[in-house]
Amino acid sequence: MNRKRCRHCHSFFLPDPRVKNQEYCNRPECRQAKKARWQREKMRRDPDYQADHRDAHQHWLKHHPDYWKTYREKHPSYVQTNRRKQKKRDQKRRLKHLAKMDSIRPFPFIKSGTYFISPDLAKMDAKGQKIFIIPAS
Ligand SMILES: [Zn+2]
Repeated sequence: MNRKRCRHCHSFFLPDPRVKNQEYCNRPECRQAKKARWQREKMRRDPDYQADHRDAHQHWLKHHPDYWKTYREKHPSYVQTNRRKQKKRDQKRRLKHLAKMDSIRPFPFIKSGTYFISPDLAKMDAKGQKIFIIPAS
């Protein structure tokens, strides 16, 4: 029988002849990794499975309302990591938004030149504000 390399721990193992295309050895952590991979794939591909999972989670949360509050209190490093990751995501989103805004010309109908904004429109001070419009190209 041919030995195979485990997809998770990369060690060699003898596959069970009853299991077709066995990719993981029998170590508990490798079996867990196999199950986690299967579940990720299932979640990605099966909308019903995804909905069931979400419903079960909602049901569980309803019966354990303080779980996350308690968890965060007991695991400050989790909170820190989460905040750092969220900051990164926010920053990324902001940059994406800025890039989008940059590609849009706000007033394509205005020719470049020197303009004065009426104080009534600007609602700033009594003097007109001088603005310069720079061609986007
Ligand atoms: Zn393994």
